Amino acid sequence: MADTPLFPVTTVGSWPRSTSLIRALRAKQNGEMSDSEFNRLADQEVISCIRSQEEAGVDIVTDGEQRRDNFYSYVVDKLAGMQLMKVSDLLDYANDRARMEEVLRALDVPAFAIKSPIVVDKLGKKEGLSLDELAFMKEQTDRQIKIPIPGPYMLTRSSWFEGLSDKVYESAEELSKDVVAILREEVLALRDMGCDFIQFDEPILSQTVFGEESTETFMCAALPQRRDPTEELEFAVRLMNETMEGISGIRTGVHVCRGNWSRKEDVLLVGNYGPMLPHLMQMNIDQLVLECATPRAGEMEVFKEYTNEKEIGLGVVNPRTDEIEPVEDIVARVRDILQYFSPDKVYLNPDCGFGTFAERNVNTPEIAEKKLQAMSEAAVILRAEFG
Ligand SMILES: [Zn+2]
Repeated sequence: MADTPLFPVTTVGSWPRSTSLIRALRAKQNGEMSDSEFNRLADQEVISCIRSQEEAGVDIVTDGEQRRDNFYSYVVDKLAGMQLMKVSDLLDYANDRARMEEVLRALDVPAFAIKSPIVVDKLGKKEGLSLDELAFMKEQTDRQIKIPIPGPYMLTRSSWFEGLSDKVYESAEELSKDVVAILREEVLALRDMGCDFIQFDEPILSQTVFGEESTETFMCAALPQRRDPTEELEFAVRLMNETMEGISGIRTGVHVCRGNWSRKEDVLLVGNYGPMLPHLMQMNIDQLVLECATPRAGEMEVFKEYTNEKEIGLGVVNPRTDEIEPVEDIVARVRDILQYFSPDKVYLNPDCGFGTFAERNVNTPEIAEKKLQAMSEAAVILRAEFG
């Protein structure tokens, strides 16, 4: 693994997609564009996204998830047995359609724009989930590479939908065995190809903890069957540890945030990491990649009991705002977290991606680059102070 400076600057994954890329993505999904034609365009977008990160001083780059419709739906092309369904189509299968529509409206969820991979047949692997993304990046950059993949809990919970999936897997637990096997193979393959950092995305954990009781959410169609939050968190820990069992030689992280589908801060979830930390700490991974810049993430004192137990990927900028966070504010935020983490355990990242869902960029590439630039400048100051 390449040398990593103190306070490495990285991203959570997604980068705003251009209009022509979104159009091409739709054409590919409708069978009007071949994969190779799509990839020719996507290759150029990935290159420009990598260059933006390099110019902004990012130490560990991603491909901006440019080839993906969203951070978890893309697996539909990589796995047999899944079908991509619009959240609006899933409404037809919802136990309480009126209630689900009401929730989607209240949360400002673009139900027609967000798609979920739903299991409709026995799950099988066609090719790696992200091996093509990594192979292309290796040709394009010398920087360290982070690959975000859906975590085992997210993949299981979001793709098992009653009325569609139970014909093949009688429960989400049954499905999880195949999900874990596929993710284990993926982690090993990414490691062997020279990936530096695998980030498991598990944003729906916050839905489990902070979401309203009995709310059917857009990201997790199967949540009506959910049990109490503690059981869900224990399930998530078990799946993560089964996935990582006996695997070493690759840096891993888990990303949790409170949602990134809307710029309206008041519709996104609120609550500190306190209820989640006892569980996250049991996960056999190196780093917690967390949303911390938004006040919705609550007090950082919750880390006091867990000093240095893991690395922290500290969210230091809000991906959904136009203003660029002042460098000194970022530095202050990092100094503050150093009460609970030593300097070699702190990574800097935005709270979440800049375009989690293809049709919902939460920012422009120009602002995204400036925010990353501010983070890099902060890292330079911090390295001089703590290096
Ligand atoms: Zn996020």
